[in-house]
Formats: sequence, structure tokens, C-alpha cells
Amino acid sequence: MHSHHNALGLAIAPIGTASGAEIAKRRPVQPVTLLRPHAARRAARFFVEKFPGKSIYAVKANPSPDLLEILWDSGITHYDVASIAEVRLVARTLPEATLCFMHPVKAEEAIEEAYFTHGVRTFSLDTMDELQKIVRATRGANDLNLCVRIRVSSDHSKLSLASKFGVETGEVKDLLMATRQAADALGICFHVGSQAMTPAAYAEAMARVRAAIVEAAVTVDIVDVGGGFPSSYPGMEPPPLEAYFEVIHKGFENLPISYSAELWCEPGRALCAEYASVLVRVEKRRGDELYINDGAYGALFDAAHIGWRFPVQLMREEASDAKDMAFSFYGPTCDDLDHMTGPFMLPADVSAGDYIEIGMLGAYGCAMRTGFNGFGSDLKEIVEDEPMASLYGGAAREVARNNVVKL
Ligand SMILES: *Cc1c(COP(=O)(O)O)cnc(C)c1O
Repeated sequence: MHSHHNALGLAIAPIGTASGAEIAKRRPVQPVTLLRPHAARRAARFFVEKFPGKSIYAVKANPSPDLLEILWDSGITHYDVASIAEVRLVARTLPEATLCFMHPVKAEEAIEEAYFTHGVRTFSLDTMDELQKIVRATRGANDLNLCVRIRVSSDHSKLSLASKFGVETGEVKDLLMATRQAADALGICFHVGSQAMTPAAYAEAMARVRAAIVEAAVTVDIVDVGGGFPSSYPGMEPPPLEAYFEVIHKGFENLPISYSAELWCEPGRALCAEYASVLVRVEKRRGDELYINDGAYGALFDAAHIGWRFPVQLMREEASDAKDMAFSFYGPTCDDLDHMTGPFMLPADVSAGDYIEIGMLGAYGCAMRTGFNGFGSDLKEIVEDEPMASLYGGAAREVARNNVVKL
């Protein structure tokens, strides 16, 4: 990213980088990440203004410091971190941010450093063992917010988070009662799975929270509905986010908790999916297979391993009259696994040397890149055009004819 400074030392937005098409015109040899700060800002403001509680950004979705700063500037003050490296990263990038260590299985050393060095007071857990670890590592601190992670269904989500974490129904009561003893504030948290396609997922989970509170008869100070808020992808267009917020608010209001209880959520995907896309080049075509210069070991892990579909647009000098057809992609490494089935709809006359923008990679795309086999690139450009899709106020780019953006 280049920016220059004026006489007052203020950064001026780079000139001539207004759209992905303008970047493509330069014919970059390496894949380029196109960053849209305005899209991340819009998503953050939406959650800050409309979610009926506190929005905690789940850092794993995209830990890049430039994004963390945008979210902070847009009013996101709390960050969900899962590892000591994420704790250190956010503490260093946003020294005033509040960190919540929401991985239910932590190294004792990580808890200790988080508590004593970085001021972390909020931790999640799903076993008695983890509770004892937290108590030991913080030397019996009396200022802890402890959130018990309960198991809920992932049936309405595209990516399950139901099998790994969460205390079983039969053990909830004992764990809530024991945690109540150790906690200053007691919370219950859950995660309905990523890309929840219906608000009903949260209604069902809230019913579980209600049952747990009634059974354990404890005072609960925090209800944390986790992440799972969807974004928009081909074949996965969810209802408006307001519908999710409404269901969550209703569920929260119906819980038998104290009037001072807080409602939290932990959006990852929804805050950053629209933030980034990747501009790739076609290096070879073989029938309906395109060999591109980013792939499973780059930003397309989900496209390769769980068949996630991302929107695409062809960017080339000449408009195309060819009809769209379905393509699959091969990434640049020498590995057969580096294959993305799609289908990705592009004009039938795509050929080597063409550029393709792959959209909605801000969440779990850019974050999962590797340098395997010597591929991958750190090139980034800030652009001001709209993302290919948006859940925030019909802001999405107009779809070009035949999926072609003329350069
Ligand atoms: C991954 C994760 C999130 C974010 O999930 P999204 O589906 O990206 O919103 C939030 N909380 C926890 C505990 C997570 O593991």
C-alpha cells in the first residue's frame, strides 16, 4: 500500500487506486489483495448502532492490524482472541482495547500472561479442569468475567462448530454453579456455527441458555451469543442482519436474568468479509479449468476444502460477447489438492493472461494464506469501489454484463 504525506504530515489517500479495475490495468504478476476500508467501517458501524448489546470482534476471521485499526476507529472496543499470539497482537495494535480470551481450551501460561501482562479479565471455559486452570493461573483473582460455553446445534449453519467445544447438557448445572463461585461476573456463551443462514439458530440456542439458567438457578450477568452472523456469497444469500438482531433481542428479554445483565455477540465473518477481495491472473486454461495464481494455500482455503463459492468477475481490456459458463480453478502449487470446484461463472472465452477478481475474501480468506511452494504474495492496494456483494444497505457493485469489468 502506498500513501504519501502532505506538508502537514497527514496521510493522503493514494491517487489512482480507486477501483480493482484500475489495479488490473497495471497487469500485476502476483495476486493482489484489494482492501476496502469503507466496507469494514460500514459493517462495524452497523453492529455498533444496531446490535442490541456489545459487539466483540472475533480476531481469527482476519487479524490484520490495518483492519483492527479501522474497526477500533469505527467504535468496536472489544476483541475476541483465541491464542496468546492474538492477545499480544491486539494489545500491541490497540493498547486501549478490551480483550476477551474466548477459546475454551487454553495453556495455563497463556492465561497467566493474558491476565497479568495484558489485563485480560474475560475468559471462556467448558470444563471443570479449565476452570481450575484459570483460577490457578490468575492466582485466585476476584475480578474475572467467566463465560461457560454451552453446546448448541449447528444445524442452521454452513460450518459446524458443534462438536469440538461446549459443555454437555448433563454437566451444565455443576459447571455453572462452580464457575459462579470463582467469577465476579458469570456469563453463558455459545456459537451456532459460522454462516448461520437463519435467525432461528439463535432462537434455539437462547432456549438452551434459558434451560441452563433455570436448571442451575444461578445469577447470570452476561449472555454472549457468539459469532455466526452471515455474509453474502453465491447461493448463500441470508436474510437481513436486522432479523437476527431482533430474534436475539427477543430471546434475551425472555431470559430470567438480572436487569443489569449484558448481551454480547462475537461477529467475525460479518465484520470483515466485504473488506477484501483478491485479484488473480489466469496462467493457463484447460477446457473448463482455469489455472490461477492463488489457491488453496493462499486465500482460497475454504473454496478448496469445503467447496465454498465466492463471487468472481473477469477484468479485461475488451468486453466479451461470450456467454457465461461454469469453471473450476487450480491454484499455483504443484499439489492436486490445490483445486477449487466452484462452479465459478465466467465468460466462455476466458483465456491465459486475463485477470479475475474473487470477492468476499476478507473473512477466513486472507487470514489463512501460506507461502507453501513459494507462492503467495503480500501485495495490497486500497480501493474505493464497492465489494461484489453487501449485507449493508444495498451498497454492492452493479453486476457488469457477462460478469466482465472493462478495463
Ligand atoms: C470463530 C469464532 C467466532 C466468529 O465466528 P464467525 O462465524 O466468523 O462470526 C466467534 N466466537 C468464537 C468463540 C469463535 O470461535
